[in-house]
Amino acid sequence: MKTIGLLGGMSWESTVSYYQSINRQIKQTLGGLHSAKIVLYSVDFAEIEKLQKEGNWDKAAEILSKASKSLQSAGAEGLFICTNTMHIVAPQIQSELSIPLFHIADATAEVLVDMGVKKVGLLGTKFTMQEGFYKNRISEHYGIDVIVPDEGSQEGIHTIIYDELCLGEINPSSKYFYLEVIEDLKNKGAEAIILGCTEIALLVKARDTTIPLLDTTTIHASKAVAFALED
Ligand code: GLU
Repeated sequence: MKTIGLLGGMSWESTVSYYQSINRQIKQTLGGLHSAKIVLYSVDFAEIEKLQKEGNWDKAAEILSKASKSLQSAGAEGLFICTNTMHIVAPQIQSELSIPLFHIADATAEVLVDMGVKKVGLLGTKFTMQEGFYKNRISEHYGIDVIVPDEGSQEGIHTIIYDELCLGEINPSSKYFYLEVIEDLKNKGAEAIILGCTEIALLVKARDTTIPLLDTTTIHASKAVAFALED
């Protein structure tokens, strides 16, 4: 079994989900007392969030590259960044590593291709919904049309992530708001919805709606398991 490197803490609420999901899948596959070989580097999210707000992506890339190199030195054989948003600096991080970085948007797009989805709705932080690093990667590399909520709804989706979900708060009113936005994207032709923030699955579940939801945390965790178990 290969050793998985997790760059987490963004937020730690969703890093817990990665850790659980990876270990559960390894147990399910190998049985008995088997568990995943994981090296985890968990950052202080307050530092990263401040840099996001300032748009200081260079400094954020520097911090995350240093952390990733520590994971590599500690024996990680593949890197998984446990957040969609911070993949904005994935190219800088990969350029300083000799181990592979498994991009969360690629893992998600591969599932969409298997499902035959041609148009997908994307929810996430404003950075993920607005910048090209995520949307363009999926549309240009996989030929899938990506649509996002209108600006007002983006604001609400983003605020709930930082002010509630990353703090471990789950509010029914926020869930209804998300479901309304999901319904709107469905009416605009989305065949599936990417929960493109690793905390959203803590709030919205597949059973809450009829449209397929792609939980990027579970998808990325499954990619890590497949990597760990491949020959
Ligand atoms: N975990 C979130 C994501 O997947 C948001 C926190 C962050 O900005 O990294 O995008």
